[in-house]
Amino acid sequence: MLKATETILEIDLSALGHNYHYIKSRLKKETKVMAVVKAFGYGSDAIELAKELVNLGIDYIAVAYVKEGVALRDAGIKAPIVVLHPLPINFDILIDRCLEPCLYSTKVLNHFIKIASKKNQIDYPVHIKFNTGLNRLGFWKNDVDRVVKKLKETKALKVISVFSHLAASEDLSEKEFTLNQIKTFKDISENLIKSIGYKPMLHICNTSGILNYPEAHLDMVRSGIGLYGFGNSEKENKNFKPVATLKSIISQIHIIEKGETVGYNRAYKSELESSRQKTATIPVGHADGISRAYGNGKGWVTINSQKALIIGNVCMDMLMVNVTDINCNEGDEVIIFGELHTAEDLTEQIGSISYELITSISQRINRVICRK
Ligand SMILES: *Cc1c(COP(=O)(O)O)cnc(C)c1O
Repeated sequence: MLKATETILEIDLSALGHNYHYIKSRLKKETKVMAVVKAFGYGSDAIELAKELVNLGIDYIAVAYVKEGVALRDAGIKAPIVVLHPLPINFDILIDRCLEPCLYSTKVLNHFIKIASKKNQIDYPVHIKFNTGLNRLGFWKNDVDRVVKKLKETKALKVISVFSHLAASEDLSEKEFTLNQIKTFKDISENLIKSIGYKPMLHICNTSGILNYPEAHLDMVRSGIGLYGFGNSEKENKNFKPVATLKSIISQIHIIEKGETVGYNRAYKSELESSRQKTATIPVGHADGISRAYGNGKGWVTINSQKALIIGNVCMDMLMVNVTDINCNEGDEVIIFGELHTAEDLTEQIGSISYELITSISQRINRVICRK
């Protein structure tokens, strides 16, 4: 393992492979996998991850916005790329770069047909999204006839898949709601297939859907967080390996007296007698994605296998930790999150989720690709 000499986000491609194979082991052989690499690959490195996923045999790649798909094409990724939430302003470039749009409303469908027809497209691959309860993006159940009519009027589009998104797949107390979403989706897609006369692929499961609803794997599943190493439950987390480790070093150590304070607003005050209080300053702050919410003892880092609580307020570019009882020196390595002390462990302290922390790590932190 690489020893840090500055703040880095280490990306372990072996962990990605492990997670991919674990997800595959939960699927039927013929079920396809769409890897979701939106938001810079959940804050890791979308290009390096996409390349590795292609090597691993991924069927589809998904991003949220057109710009993210363009970056993958610029990097030479040739796999099919689905854009989950394209906006009409970007349809021209989407077609120019062979990205596949999700069409989710009448306005968006009509606009896409117009642009695709103008560009003389025939059977351009598209994905139709239905809303079954998340109430975020998608056609409604009673839009099916209208969508089919539009699709039949044009030769420009070919529906590659029909899909929906689960609202609470990780929450087993919402099982009845989820099963209802799955049932609604099956009714919608059956209806649509009957009317368009061919069978697109069907998919509804995200990572927790894959783990909790095997009966809903259908033709394809979409995994994001699982590939990055989280299973959204204590039990499933054991089967995954976090891909990203945020590491830094101790840039300075201070010994402070009783009554002295640490950081902005003097939020931490030492109560320890006679030069016993020792603090370490770490070059990573809220501008790097470590929220102020982790300050004042909510969050911690690991130094020489020991837990060092964050003291005072997190600053923009650095934070301070309590190392009074830790044998450490300036230059020593610091783990902010990783395999043992995970992003999820940290986010639990502030009522957030792993997704939020890993996608927040700022682009000024170097990504270092490795295979452990
Ligand atoms: C982000 C996203 C996913 C991935 O969800 P995970 O919980 O990270 O597996 C799947 N489908 C859609 C539509 C998404 O927006």
